[in-house]
Amino acid sequence: MIVDYHTHTLLCKHAEGELQEYIQRAIELGLDEIGCSEHSPMPHGFDNRHRMSLAQYQSIYAPAVTEASERYKDQITVRRGLEADFFPGTEEWVKSFIAENDFDYVIGSVHFLGKVGAEKPLFHQEYTSQQLEDLHIEYFEAIRASAESRLFDIIGHCDLVKKHETLSSPAIDGAIWDALKAIKQNDLCIEINTSGLRKAEAEMYPSEKLLSMIRELAIPLTLGSDAHRPQDVGRSFAEASAFIEKYGDGTISIFKRRERTQVPLRRLRMAPSKVVNQQ
Ligand code: ZN
Ligand code: FE
Ligand code: FE
Ligand code: ZN
Repeated sequence: MIVDYHTHTLLCKHAEGELQEYIQRAIELGLDEIGCSEHSPMPHGFDNRHRMSLAQYQSIYAPAVTEASERYKDQITVRRGLEADFFPGTEEWVKSFIAENDFDYVIGSVHFLGKVGAEKPLFHQEYTSQQLEDLHIEYFEAIRASAESRLFDIIGHCDLVKKHETLSSPAIDGAIWDALKAIKQNDLCIEINTSGLRKAEAEMYPSEKLLSMIRELAIPLTLGSDAHRPQDVGRSFAEASAFIEKYGDGTISIFKRRERTQVPLRRLRMAPSKVVNQQ
């Protein structure tokens, strides 16, 4: 099987395209499953510029996913996913939101550090090298805490902090190991997220360095494009599949009603002309 479990739509205000355009692209590519994982609503107005509201989830997104899974069921399996934020102080709200909706899986992502009312963005900041090291450690500690929260099924773009620059130090490596061990102990999987290839850092999340550590711990892997445009669905999946073969056990994690199954990864047979467009 091959799946794309990380996709957005125009509802999050920083992506383009309707849900059905993403699904149609997935069908065109021959994916077995597409997961709709729009940025989750959050309490206290947390980062509301980059997500749908609770009302939009209830009145637009959830019904659209239900409708699409029915409409396209002969062509592709549509999964009800979510990209939730892990952020201290919001866990109870997120926990109830997840419990009240029947997701197939929930991706947990860390986009901000700090605490409610004093969110520290990971990006667009000038940092000294000491601050940058601290930021890396704080980031991987947040990833560890997100795994220990037991709120999620998949850890999203698990080394997103490298946006700044890839830093390495014994303290950072220690924080990475602690995060990965917590992911393993809590029986979560990690996505290979190809969107990093389309950004300044020009490499997938996670990096091959982390993937080697992931292989050592035998953490299961799944696949997501983090598409914010329909044409990015399934993008760079040939490279990502090679990573699953190299750093995983040749299986990919799929989810139904928050239950994980490992199935053999199938390489995508894509018409090359279709994948080498734009950028
Ligand atoms: Zn986004
Ligand atoms: Fe994200
Ligand atoms: Fe995303
Ligand atoms: Zn994301």
